[in-house]
Amino acid sequence: MKQLKKKLADNLSRVREKIATACGRVNRDPTEVTLVAVTKSVGLEVIRTLAELGQVDLGENRPQELLRKTTMLEELNLRAKQAGLADRDSAEKFSAVRWHMIGHLQRNKVSMVLNCSRMIHSVDSLRLAEEISIQAGKRGISADVLMEVNCSGESSKYGIIPAAVNHLAEQFATLKHIRLMGLMTMGPLAENPEDSRKAFVRLRELFEEMHASGYVGKDCKHLSMGTTQDYMVAAEEGATMVRVGRDLFEGL
Ligand SMILES: *Cc1c(COP(=O)(O)O)cnc(C)c1O
Repeated sequence: MKQLKKKLADNLSRVREKIATACGRVNRDPTEVTLVAVTKSVGLEVIRTLAELGQVDLGENRPQELLRKTTMLEELNLRAKQAGLADRDSAEKFSAVRWHMIGHLQRNKVSMVLNCSRMIHSVDSLRLAEEISIQAGKRGISADVLMEVNCSGESSKYGIIPAAVNHLAEQFATLKHIRLMGLMTMGPLAENPEDSRKAFVRLRELFEEMHASGYVGKDCKHLSMGTTQDYMVAAEEGATMVRVGRDLFEGL
């Protein structure tokens, strides 16, 4: 195996093992946690290799980069398909990739992002949700979104305030072309992973309250929380998606 592929394969299994260890501590099934590989710091060669290794979920935090990278991967996919039998395995792997938009999104970029992603994790206002619903409606699709909540109270962070979650869930439910699939948060800026636990517990409580209020259905099942800084803590506290960049690309 090529050097890059081997190193990435090792990193992937190390990260997956850490998720499994965290889940083991709280008796969770590790398959409940989807690893979203955040590729903002790496180029196409690494992304391609990730896909070839079977890493399905990839995330980007900027619309322009998301578009650039999805387009490049599409081209690789097309070429692999044209190569026919010889490269059928790669083509299948490239086709399986699901892109996640995880960073701040402005309304004028919604259309672009809908063209190239499967889920938007960072919906932080009703106006943004409305625009997503309008654009999705034009395409005849339903957009899967998460509501981003600022659980740490840091003013530098995007996300709606915890007290507004239920009200916004009620509003989102009136929008025809979005499906609220869950909640997302970023842990506080801190050295110690434990410093994030409170924010993650808060997000899970808000999720439970939102379900109790009846504005969301069974589809609404995701808690997107945890980065390199704190994904083991997030897995312990119920994350269904962790968004990991740096730890995956360590030593590449
Ligand atoms: C960059 C980023 C991540 C991943 O951070 P790492 O420290 O590289 O693991 C997760 N979520 C969001 C929103 C990001 O922008």
